[in-house]
Amino acid sequence: MGSFSSQLEQLSQQGNLRRLPEIDSDGRYAIRGGMKMLNLSSNDYLGLADNRALKEEFFHSLNPHECRFSSTSSRLLTGNFPIYTRLENQLAELYDAECALVFNSGYHANSGILPAVTDNRSLILADKLVHASIVDGIGLSKARNIRYRHNHYEQLERLVAENSSQYDKIFIVTESIFSMDGDECDLQRLVALKKNFHNIYLYVDEAHAFGVRGPQGLGCAEEQKLTRKIDFLVCTFGKAAASVGAFVICSNEIKEYLVNKMRTLIFTTALPPINLEWTQFMLHKIPFMHSRREHLEKISKKLRNALNPLNGDILSSSHIIPYVLGNSERAITAAERLQREGFYLLPVRPPTVPQGSSRLRISLNAEITDTEIEQLIHALHNLQTDL
Ligand code: PMP
Repeated sequence: MGSFSSQLEQLSQQGNLRRLPEIDSDGRYAIRGGMKMLNLSSNDYLGLADNRALKEEFFHSLNPHECRFSSTSSRLLTGNFPIYTRLENQLAELYDAECALVFNSGYHANSGILPAVTDNRSLILADKLVHASIVDGIGLSKARNIRYRHNHYEQLERLVAENSSQYDKIFIVTESIFSMDGDECDLQRLVALKKNFHNIYLYVDEAHAFGVRGPQGLGCAEEQKLTRKIDFLVCTFGKAAASVGAFVICSNEIKEYLVNKMRTLIFTTALPPINLEWTQFMLHKIPFMHSRREHLEKISKKLRNALNPLNGDILSSSHIIPYVLGNSERAITAAERLQREGFYLLPVRPPTVPQGSSRLRISLNAEITDTEIEQLIHALHNLQTDL
């Protein structure tokens, strides 16, 4: 390992140096360097984060004397305020599940669950493209792990058949909508695979599907009527739900086990109750936001039709639509040009995505109009001919 400065210099030469952007937002727009651009890079998929009417309604519902802006301790000490139970009951009811457990973030959930529920008699089989937070959870676990090729179920089935008798428990780990490619796992096939073995647990991260998919916005598993077949159904509140935190839908037994073993739950100050109040407020609204979900799907389809043919093997089926440009310099040039044209898009580079697949990650939200999508497609076509 060289000096810090030489490594930073190397990152810079590769076009992979990251800097924290000075950025603000105004509703649908991102404001940076004095420019106001349509925000196509946030995870606010339902376009609710800056919704004035919702904020006003929420503030009117509050009694300032009862608001708490900190939990001041872990949930296992004095931080487990009644709103935690109310929110977890509401989630269990929505999912028609035994129970739910709320965490401070998706990162806490994914980096904490697998180390808690596995040991050296476990095997983790995780999709090659799972999120960094899951990768870190795998790294902290004592289990053996194998990453299977992205959505390659023949390989996964082979790995299960070869290994099932040698381990107490096998955990299959995937995202439902993948965060960088915008494609989906085959939940039906994973559930079918699980059915054939008594020791398989299915772990599905629905961070990018929660709020967006399914009749009530509960995710792809709800859409496919599979919520009860998944052992660890992880969702986050920091994206479409326009709040903060995460939760897992699981059995009572697993919840109790996590409360006793999960270090990222036990050894951290609980989220402030005011944030959970807002989450609960949003959870009362999101199941009824059908028209936002329908509009998002309509504009996403339009952009997918334009971009999927340019992306080789990467086939988005969601509101996350990449435009793959190859090397990092190209992605940076493209993003800068589109920003000048009023579209706030960012280059996504290694190590977030594999080498040679630097891209613009376009994440749409329900506030974007049909006309804006047409303007974006036009700008992307011009870019393609010029680059
Ligand atoms: N899972 C996935 C698939 C994600 O994309 C992210 C965040 N981008 C997380 C988990 C982490 O969630 P949080 O931001 O709540 O920590």
